[in-house]
Amino acid sequence: MNVHSVKNHVIIHGAHILKEDIMSKRNKIIYLDLDNVLVDFHSHPTLRIPHGFFNHPNMFKDTYFSKLKPFPGAIKAAMTLLNNPKLDVYILTQPVANSIKSYSEKADWVAEYLPAFSDRLIMTQDKLLNKGDVLVDDSLKWSKFEGKFIHFDFKGNTVEEWKRVVEEINGVRELSYGL
Ligand SMILES: [Mg+2]
Repeated sequence: MNVHSVKNHVIIHGAHILKEDIMSKRNKIIYLDLDNVLVDFHSHPTLRIPHGFFNHPNMFKDTYFSKLKPFPGAIKAAMTLLNNPKLDVYILTQPVANSIKSYSEKADWVAEYLPAFSDRLIMTQDKLLNKGDVLVDDSLKWSKFEGKFIHFDFKGNTVEEWKRVVEEINGVRELSYGL
């Protein structure tokens, strides 16, 4: 194909198309958090952690992260988003930095409940380094994400909360960062 650029235009077979028109057709990049968004962080069958506790010794025991249950509505919502051809959807999660097991157990959890995301699993200690359009997270710590931050409230009916989030993502039209 004969394609070349002149200033803000791309010329394809002699037709001038604004670069912005082409760029805006790229897929939106969506990040979904694990703990307290897809995963019920307090659902381990034997290892209990009280709500509001985030550095509990049970987190360092074997299987803590791999044996948690998904929230009602979470798997269906994640697959609905993944199957939208206009979205590139990833899981973006912060493992416990000083627990190697938390990394592998989170990967185990994804392999069991959302295997289609096994090659879409990003682990980081700083979510703000990721470029993208939407971050769904329960923690306001990441609200300065460069794209749209959607706060997930896991304390109510998570089926309804996921419906709201999916609708909101499907309604995001504007790109949040320039190319
Ligand atoms: Mg979380």
